[in-house]
Parts: sequence; structure tokens; C-alpha cells
Amino acid sequence: MQEIPHYIAGQRTTGRGVRRGDVYNPAWGEVTARLCLADAGDVDAAVAAAQAAWPAWAETPPLKRARVMFRFKEILEREAPALAALISTEHGKTVPDALGEVTRGLEVVEFACGIPQLLKGEYCDQVGTGVDSYNLRQPLGVVAGITPFNFPAMVPLWMIPVALACGNTFVLKPSERDPSAALKLADYLHEAGLPDGVFNVVHGDKTAVDALLDHPDVAAVSFVGSTPIARYIHSRGTAAGKRVQALGGAKNHLVVMPDADIAQTADALMGAAYGSAGERCMAISVAVAVGDAADALVAELAGRTRSLKIGPGSQADADMGPLVTREHKARVESHIAAGVAEGATLVVDGRGHVVAGHENGFFVGGTLFDHVTPGMSIYQEEIFGPVLAVVRVGSLDEAIGLINGHPFGNGTAIFTRDGGAAREFTRRIQVGMVGVNVPIPVPMAFMSFGGWKASLFGDHHVHGHEGVRFYTRMKTVTSRWPARLTAEFSMPTMK
Ligand code: NAD
Repeated sequence: MQEIPHYIAGQRTTGRGVRRGDVYNPAWGEVTARLCLADAGDVDAAVAAAQAAWPAWAETPPLKRARVMFRFKEILEREAPALAALISTEHGKTVPDALGEVTRGLEVVEFACGIPQLLKGEYCDQVGTGVDSYNLRQPLGVVAGITPFNFPAMVPLWMIPVALACGNTFVLKPSERDPSAALKLADYLHEAGLPDGVFNVVHGDKTAVDALLDHPDVAAVSFVGSTPIARYIHSRGTAAGKRVQALGGAKNHLVVMPDADIAQTADALMGAAYGSAGERCMAISVAVAVGDAADALVAELAGRTRSLKIGPGSQADADMGPLVTREHKARVESHIAAGVAEGATLVVDGRGHVVAGHENGFFVGGTLFDHVTPGMSIYQEEIFGPVLAVVRVGSLDEAIGLINGHPFGNGTAIFTRDGGAAREFTRRIQVGMVGVNVPIPVPMAFMSFGGWKASLFGDHHVHGHEGVRFYTRMKTVTSRWPARLTAEFSMPTMK
């Protein structure tokens, strides 16, 4: 059986750690590879390689760092179909969906190609007589990325291009469920001319993560994953003196106003709720039907949900593939059982869905609940599967109150033809990313991605200007070239 190694100082290595993890093809339900799980010594080796490579990389002019990004972009474009196929085999998502995530990651590389412009500081002439002041942004050193299973290329690419272009060196700890995309990114960066040690990959679980969080030479940590782990990463990382951005889970609501085009809204909801089998942090898992939108909406959704095409990610016409693991499938099915027990109306039941020829695959069919209420666990908890809950409310005010009362605040959307209602919603809603007639409002690479409340711990969103700020620190220089200096004993003020 194939062993998936780490990538340290430009070399593939099985490392020191003796533990191994299983990597599955979720459509078949079979183990396809064994993953080397790092111990603290392997993390030490990766951080040491990144630390050794940092001085020269930080001194490399931004223009030259950008040229590596330009080459990286070309290689990613060339390799996108192969990378998407690889992602599909380990994650389960359809190949076109995987191609979409590669494109969204590629856009961050394009953003990072502009780093000379992005790193420009401010200059103030004559802040005092004969005194000038300017600021510059300098890299932090070795930074780490810890990433989730659901976007094995895109989420690492939210971090890597910006961090490297800013002059940092990087250690990536990808998800242990679909680790191969990370090694491909390492190969592409190597081919693009990135010096050895500037980018490293250590595979593993909590042992590797804790070693990174505690390592004195790791200056900053970017994390994306579930909320309990995000909270833990933020508190342990900041306690160790690091800069930390930790993006967590979500429960994204889409408000359907009575004036919305219900058929179009149902189409938008289908992709947003069931695309990637609901395993997206920006998936819509709650439809909030306002007033008399509800009956028509549920009727439109029910037919579409029953006719979802479910199959392996390689099936050309599949709308969605399997879930990532057997355990996750069981967890999603137990959430559905809890919804039934709590009294929600199960309109379409996706449990026990079998795909012919893939009887051992981790499939769950599209599931639709109606009459879900805020006290139910299927409303409160992130299910991260193909389960859409319809909540009925009487007014926009009630919809806004509902969403603002939820602990998560990643994404949300409103579907309406009323500009006033949309404006009211976007201004009052306590959520980080908001769509108006856009069901999954994922910001572009040159904007920044991040939620509010329990969906993000830390101050900075990822990529865009926020990413550049996260991966640099500002230095402000005040300079004078006097003919003669005299001693000054009182607090200096500008003359
Ligand atoms: P996860 O939290 O289980 O794992 C994320 C990373 O943390 C992985 O690299 C994993 O190895 C590591 N990890 C897991 N348990 C750990 C522990 N006890 N201690 C230290 N490290 C640990 O998340 P997942 O299941 O891989 O991904 C799905 C979750 O990610 C969902 O909650 C989803 O909403 C969230 N997500 C959020 C965003 C966002 O932008 N907010 C984006 C993608 C995914």
C-alpha cells in the first residue's frame, strides 16, 4: 500500500514518527493509502527547515517573490484537472466541484502576484522641521497553516501564496483525511523555483498540531476547521505568544422574502445546500421562509431534493458525491434521527441511500426538514452534510433576530426583489459575509474571507488586504538628518 510522506526542506520523507493513518476513497469506502503521522520531532525538523530558509527568502525582493507566484499560477493552471481528479478521489466531491475549488485557490495566487504593490507603505514628508516618517511591512518568520478536509487545495491556498509573497516561510499541516493535494502544491512550488525549506508539509493529527502551537520558532498560525478546535487553537496559540487567526464552523441561513422568485430561489438553495454534499463552511443549512413564502418554497425544494443525482465524484452528471468518512456519515444520519425525534417534519429522508456499484461508499441522500424551530439540535448544531432545515417566520425583523441569535456568524443571504429589505438586512445582520440574491457569498481573493462570532477567533480575515496584514508587521520609521543635535530632556515634540 502506498505511503504518503511529509515534505521537509525540499525532500519527501516518512519522518521519525511511527504512527500511520488510513486515507480512504469515500465513494468505494476503501483504504487507498497510509499516511505518515508526524511526531514532535518531525514538526521540529519542518520548523527548523523553514527557519533556516527564512533569512534569504525574507531578503529576496518582493518582485522576485512575485515571479515565483507567477510561475506557480501557470503550473496550477496546467495541473488543475489532475489536481481536481485527485481531490475527488480522497474527498469524494465531484470533479467539477473540485475544479471550482482549485480555481478559487488559484485566484489567491493571482492576488499574491501583486505583492510589490500590496507591500507599499506610507511616507510623510516633513512631519516636523527636517523630520520625515514612513512605514513598511515586514514578514513575521515561520508561519503555520492547519487546514480542514473540505477544501484540501483552496483553504491551504487562502494562506500559502500571501504568506510566502510577504516573505514568510511556511509549514502546512493539512487534513489527515485528504492529504495528497498538499504534496502536489509542494511539487508545483518547487517547480516554480521556490527555494527548498520555504514551504514544508507535515501530516498528522493533534500531536503535530500541538507541536506547532507550542513551537517557539512558529510566529503565527492560520487555522480553518471546526469551532471547538478553532477556539482551542486560538487560546493555546495566543498563550504561546503567537499571532493566530482561527476560522471555525458555520450554520448559514438564507432568508426567502415573500416577493422572491420562489423557483429561482429554490434552484439557488439546491446548489448551496447540497453542493459538495453540504460539506462547505459556506453551505446554506437553514432556509428562513418569511410569511407566505414557506409552502411554495418547501414544495419546490421537495421535488428537486428527491431528484438529486448522487454518485461517485467521477460520475460526469453527479450533483453530489459521498461524505468524507464512515463516521461522518453515521454522525449526519444521527442528526437526522434527532430532528425526527424533536418533532421537525422530515419531508425528504436521505438516510440509507445506496448507490449501485458503490454499496460501501459513504453516501447520504439529500434531506429536507420543514417546521424546524430554534430549540432543536438540527437548528443549533452544524451538521456538515446534505441536510436543509426550513424555519418559518412572520417577518424580516423576526428573521434578522433569529440569525443574530445564532452562535455562528459565517455567511448568510437574502433573496428578495425589495432593495429596502436587502439594505435593512445587510446593515443589521451580525454575520461576516452577506449575499443579496447570491446564495454563497464567498468573497473574491482580493477581498477577505471571514465570519463573526463563533465562526472566527482572532482579528484578521484571510487573504486580500487582511491576509497581507496578518502575515506582516508594520514598522514606522521617523528620521532626521540634523546638522547638530542638542540634548532634550523633556518629552520630544515636533518643532
Ligand atoms: P476539524 O476541526 O476536525 O479539523 C481541522 C484541522 O484541525 C485538521 O487539520 C485536523 O487534523 C486538526 N484537528 C482536529 N482535531 C484536533 C484536535 N483535537 N487538536 C488539534 N488539532 C486538531 O475540521 P474538519 O472536519 O477537517 O473540517 C470541517 C469543519 O471546518 C467544519 O466545521 C467547517 O465549517 C469548518 N470550515 C470552516 C471554514 C471557514 O472558513 N470558517 C472553512 C472550511 C471549513
